[in-house]
Amino acid sequence: MVMKHGRTIRIVDTTLRDGEQSPGIVFSAQDKLMIATALDQAGVAFIEAGMPIMGAEEQEAMKLILSAPLSAKVIAWNRAVKEDILASVACGCSFVHISVPVSDLHIQQKIKKSREWVIEKLKTSIGLARSFGCTVTVGAEDASRADMDFFLQVANVAAQMGAIHIRYADTVGCLTPFAVHDIFQKLIPRCPLPIEVHMHNDFGLASANTLVALDAGAALSSTTISGIGERVGNAGLEEVVTALHFLYGIDTGINVRAFKNLSEMVMQFSNRSIYPYKPVIGSTFLGNRLR
Ligand SMILES: [Zn+2]
Repeated sequence: MVMKHGRTIRIVDTTLRDGEQSPGIVFSAQDKLMIATALDQAGVAFIEAGMPIMGAEEQEAMKLILSAPLSAKVIAWNRAVKEDILASVACGCSFVHISVPVSDLHIQQKIKKSREWVIEKLKTSIGLARSFGCTVTVGAEDASRADMDFFLQVANVAAQMGAIHIRYADTVGCLTPFAVHDIFQKLIPRCPLPIEVHMHNDFGLASANTLVALDAGAALSSTTISGIGERVGNAGLEEVVTALHFLYGIDTGINVRAFKNLSEMVMQFSNRSIYPYKPVIGSTFLGNRLR
């Protein structure tokens, strides 16, 4: 399993959105600006910076980040709901992520709707965002428990409406590396859009699952600094990028020496400390001697 050289893999860092959903973590607008600036300086391509519909504080942080001179694309997270998109547009966001559930478990049991309803909501929402000139990315929630054909139907609608990539979310963290390999080998040739892989770390497999998906042809990876996030978190930015750099020889455009600073900043703002055995950023990591 060796990725072809010359492949471009981009990081969509969601420390400020999915990361902040970690129990007990709340970043101030200033914290968020500092994290976004550090992510940008490290070379991250996309920063998912928040959900403007959440309220005034979130909107203030979003505006602050958008006013900073960043090279990274700053993305606002939205449900496929008119109010969400209008709140993002009102903040001045030009990159919007629109997320829909794609598993029947979520669609029928959690929100008591139908697949047709999801497709309609997605179409209307992308159309609305595009009418404001926004660039759209689409998120498929709970994709790992969804029917692959429905994921592809959502991807096709997204592509037809002009979205630039689609997120495949293992929302409940139930995938294993071999399953990911199987799924992505089938999915990649059939999917009309580049796929962003979004893995959760319930069984310690988020980074491994991410790398397998990228190896099979996914083009982008969601990450969070130090792997912070809901439950036990997401794929760690430092783990994914360092493994791509040192084990696969793939340059993501991100400075692999930026992680100590980034993780210390996030730990300080969230009043946590770094587990010493944490890969890449833990104090006992061998590579620390190289810094
Ligand atoms: Zn997530």
